[in-house]
Amino acid sequence: ATISNVREAGGDNIGSLSNATHKAINRKSIIEKRLLLALDQQDLKVLYQPLVNNHTGKIIAAEALVRWEDEEIGVVSPDELIPIAEETGLINNIGSFMIEEACKQAAEWQKEGFDLKVSINLSVREFRDKNMAKSILNILSKTNCPANLIQIEITEKFALEAEAETSIIKQMRKLESEGIVFVLDDFGTGYASFRYMQLLPIEILKIDQMFVASLLQSEKTQRLINGMVQFGKSMNLTVLAEGVETNEQRELLKDYGCDAIQGFLISKPVAESEISKLLKNEK
Ligand code: C2E
Ligand code: CA
Ligand code: CA
Ligand code: CA
Repeated sequence: ATISNVREAGGDNIGSLSNATHKAINRKSIIEKRLLLALDQQDLKVLYQPLVNNHTGKIIAAEALVRWEDEEIGVVSPDELIPIAEETGLINNIGSFMIEEACKQAAEWQKEGFDLKVSINLSVREFRDKNMAKSILNILSKTNCPANLIQIEITEKFALEAEAETSIIKQMRKLESEGIVFVLDDFGTGYASFRYMQLLPIEILKIDQMFVASLLQSEKTQRLINGMVQFGKSMNLTVLAEGVETNEQRELLKDYGCDAIQGFLISKPVAESEISKLLKNEK
């Protein structure tokens, strides 16, 4: 909302912004300023969370998640950071940084003899850049990272917007033809449209953690998740569940035929060196 919008909607506060609104606008502009600086000074960090095969327990991939602790404003969570970055356009800078870090790390793990992919989260706004696919391929070659080591996670919301944008579909298909795998994140939380399943090169379905969280409490949720797993299988997709925190959840998901899991039960997001340790322990 613009300031004048907020004023009009002000109710009791006609003519003056409420304290809370003031604070929110303030914080946003502070975050924007500090983020610019952080990007400039390479102050962002990356943690990795393992994705494991639900039958063998082996790590098949690691998801790169951005972390930022600013000197002045402290920790800014991705849930706060990403929407602001999307609004201001700084998401493109975060994206480039994350892609490069992920590619370097994927190449490094391969060199060390580990067989896993690295997942990155990209937003639809980044794919509106007509050169997105080209930039990703450039980073891959610059970092000596084979394309088939990289997975791109897109949300259901992304998929819904992309189905109407030919240029995005083209870029995704280009990346797919080079070997990059697309993951549909937050499956089940968006809007009901399956058209993107026809149009987009999706290979992995990631069932949203919201469903997993209530898996044990509700028989309805159990049927729902079971249905989502069967749907994914019938589409020849790999099905993964995120937010798995207990063995009971894991076992139920295994019964349904869910291929892979991710969550605090396996590991929270950790530094790359911790992932390397987990990988060494597998050998
Ligand atoms: P997401 O892609 O759905 O990532 C999963 C989130 O769930 C992560 O939060 C992760 O730390 C958390 N999580 C993982 N396992 C569990 C679990 O067992 N229980 C619970 N309660 N939570 C779990 P995080 O890192 O705070 O990220 C939040 C969201 O921010 C991500 O959701 C993603 O949409 C976005 N995000 C994070 N990093 C990036 C990035 O580099 N670029 C973009 N565009 N978005 C990012
Ligand atoms: Ca490294
Ligand atoms: Ca994700
Ligand atoms: Ca998710």
